[in-house]
Amino acid sequence: MKLPVVRYLVLAAGVLGFIIPAWAGELTIYSARKEHLVKPIFDEYTKKTGVRIQYLTDKAPALLQRLKAEGNNTKADLLITVDAGNLWHAAQENVLQPVDSEILRKNIPDHLRDPGGRWYGLSIRARTIVYNTDKVKPEDLHSYQDLASEEWKERLVLRTSQKVYNQSLVAMLLVENGREKTKNIIEGWVANLSAPPFSSDTKVLESIAAGLGDVGIVNTYYYGRLIKKKPDLPLALYWPDQDGEGVHVNVSGAGVTAHSRNREEAVKFLEWLSSPEAQSLFADANMEYPVNPKVKPHSTVAAWGDFKQNMISLANAGALQKDAVKLMDEAGYR
Ligand code: FE
Repeated sequence: MKLPVVRYLVLAAGVLGFIIPAWAGELTIYSARKEHLVKPIFDEYTKKTGVRIQYLTDKAPALLQRLKAEGNNTKADLLITVDAGNLWHAAQENVLQPVDSEILRKNIPDHLRDPGGRWYGLSIRARTIVYNTDKVKPEDLHSYQDLASEEWKERLVLRTSQKVYNQSLVAMLLVENGREKTKNIIEGWVANLSAPPFSSDTKVLESIAAGLGDVGIVNTYYYGRLIKKKPDLPLALYWPDQDGEGVHVNVSGAGVTAHSRNREEAVKFLEWLSSPEAQSLFADANMEYPVNPKVKPHSTVAAWGDFKQNMISLANAGALQKDAVKLMDEAGYR
């Protein structure tokens, strides 16, 4: 008589094994952050909570178009993307909804999230100065603005102004310096270029290492990736404006979609992403910095040194993006 009972229990456990995750809920996520960076995080959350996560990855503009086209038929509960400029646009296009969460407000500093709660930064990316260590001493470097001075004539390497990272950087310079001064800075940069702007941060780094220029502006994780592969390259990072406004930072981040059918689950997932447990996973995957000030960066990233970051709200990166693009065009920055 015992055997059938045991068999029944085993069978029940098997069935429950399938049923519990369904009860635990599910989420659909559109991610402009690449699959290898987000999948381990989704898997970890599923393991922890049973919540099943479906996802789709694509470029940020494509995902935004898709959300707009799908309207209230969308299956997406969350949008994950990079750059505050892209997050701001998504909010502006009404594909994200406001989320008011004490946990998110506590875990994520003011300047790294939408004042309206429609998007939250989840990792910090520092856009800083990189230099050739054979040609430049760190004491020669000062600020973004200083790269426009005569001293750097034909020594500066930049990525194209078409890239949202540079549009956001110039938008933030606009808030800090006003239009006239910012235009002077950009004109100075253009006058100092040693080569036409490159299509990627990695090409900027490689050309500086090859001696095609002496200094440039890049996101630190590209430096991290390249140095990991080629540790002997004569490159180092410099933290500008440490007596002034600080290093320009941006974020990768997320927001709950306007038509999410699983709003409560989506908010819970967002809150988890801002927690110390998930923050290391999220930032370390791409050698970025956690947004949660309680969490330390990975030791590889920490070894690049501490820096003071610019505290101006990143909402400006989106709001002033058009102005930034216009100004770069006027200044001849291609
Ligand atoms: Fe990038």
